[in-house]
Amino acid sequence: MMRDFDNDGGRMVFGGMHACDIADEFGTPVYVTDESILRENYRRIWEAFNRHMETDIHYACKANTNLAVLRILEQEGSGIDAVSIGEVLTCLRAGYSPDRIIFTGVNVGDQELREVAETGVMINIDSFSEMERLAELCPNASEQKVSIRITPGVGSGHGAKVITGNKGSKFGIPMNEVLNAYIRANDLGFDIRGIHAHIGSGGQTVEPFIDLMQILIDTSNAVSDAIGVGLEFIDMGGGIGVPYKPNEEEMDVEELSMTLTDMIAEESEVSRLIVEPGRYIVCDSTILLTRCVDVKDAGTKKYVGVDAGFNTLVRPAFYDSYHHVAIANKFNRACTGRYDIVGPVCETGDYLAHDRVLPDPEEGDLIAVYDAGAYGFSMSSRYNSRPLCGEVLVNEGRAELIREAENMEDLWRHQIVPGRLER
Ligand SMILES: *Cc1c(COP(=O)(O)O)cnc(C)c1O
Repeated sequence: MMRDFDNDGGRMVFGGMHACDIADEFGTPVYVTDESILRENYRRIWEAFNRHMETDIHYACKANTNLAVLRILEQEGSGIDAVSIGEVLTCLRAGYSPDRIIFTGVNVGDQELREVAETGVMINIDSFSEMERLAELCPNASEQKVSIRITPGVGSGHGAKVITGNKGSKFGIPMNEVLNAYIRANDLGFDIRGIHAHIGSGGQTVEPFIDLMQILIDTSNAVSDAIGVGLEFIDMGGGIGVPYKPNEEEMDVEELSMTLTDMIAEESEVSRLIVEPGRYIVCDSTILLTRCVDVKDAGTKKYVGVDAGFNTLVRPAFYDSYHHVAIANKFNRACTGRYDIVGPVCETGDYLAHDRVLPDPEEGDLIAVYDAGAYGFSMSSRYNSRPLCGEVLVNEGRAELIREAENMEDLWRHQIVPGRLER
C-alpha cells in the first residue's frame, strides 16, 4: 500500500518534522527526501533477493541523481545502472568505484562511448553498431567488461511510453540475433560477463518478470554453448512498480525474488543475479511541497493553483500519472469538495492532480505531493523560465539542504548574446 504519514494535530509529519516547517525554512516548491525511507527500501530489496541468491542491486540512478541520495545508497553498498556519461561521472563523483557501475546506454555516440570506456565501467552493449564502434575505440578489448542487452519480447510498464522490452523496441539486440552478437563479441576479444534485459518501468505484476527470467535463462544457456564459456551473471533490469494510489496493492518482492532465484538455481549455471531498481528505491522516499497560491471556481470545475507545475513534476502531464496529494496543514481533515491541482505553466496540460477531494483549500495552504522521489526532480525543467527548485534531506527531525534552488541568474548563465546584438 502507498505509504502514509503521521498526523500531528492536523499537521503532516515527514522525516520527524512538520512538513510546514520544512516549507517555511526552505521555500516552495521543494523536494523533500527522507533518508531513513531510502535506506529501508534498499535494504528490503537487497535482503529479499540475497536471502536466496547472491544478488547485486544496481540502483538505476536516472530516477534521482542527487549526490546526497547517491552517497546514502553508496553507503548501503549499492551498485549503479547509468544511462549516460553524465550519470557515470556523477556516480564516480559520489564515490562509487567503476567496478560498481554498469553503463546501459541506447544510441550512444562515439564520443560518449569513448568517455565511458575510459572510466573503466562495464558496458552493456545495445546494438551491433555500438559493439563494433566500441571495439574500434578500445585500445584493448580484453580489458573491457561487457554484457549484452537483449530485446526479450516481454514488455511491462505503467504506460506505453516506458515499455522497453517488447519485440521491435529500440532497445537491445533482437532475439534472433543474440547468439551472433555474443559470438561476435567473443571474436572481438571482449571480456564477456553477462546478459541483460529491461522490460520497462513501473509494472505492477510479477508475471512479466517470470517470462523475462525464462528467456534470460534459456538464452544464457544457449550463449554458453555457442561461445564455450559460461556467463557470470544474469541482469534482469529494473521496472519493479510501486503503489501510487491509497489502496493499490504492492508488488510482492518476496514472492518475486523467490520465484526468480528458484528458476535460476534449477535451470542455470549462472552464480549471480543483478537487479536494477530505480523507482522502487527512491519513489516513496520523497514528497514535493508546493504552496497553494490561488483558488478558483470555474463553474464546472474548481481549481487549486500551486507554485509547482509540470516544469517541477512532469509525470502527471507527460504520463498521466497519479500522484496522491494532501494538504499538509489540514492533514486528514474532512474533505469539502473536488478540485484539480494545477500549476503556473501556461498550458492546459499543466496539472499535478485531477478531481481530488480536499479539505477546503485556501491560499497559503501547503500541498504535499506524494511519491515524488522517482523521475521527479530528475525530469524537471526550466520551462516558462522558472529556475529549478531546491531539494532537502530530512532524517529523524533534522533537515538539510541538498540542492540550492536556482535563481534568475541561472536562467541566463550559459546564454551568449553576439556582440553585434548587444544593447
Ligand atoms: C530506467 C531503467 C531502470 C530502472 O527502471 P525503474 O522502473 O525505475 O526501476 C533499470 N534499468 C535500465 C536499463 C533502465 O533504463
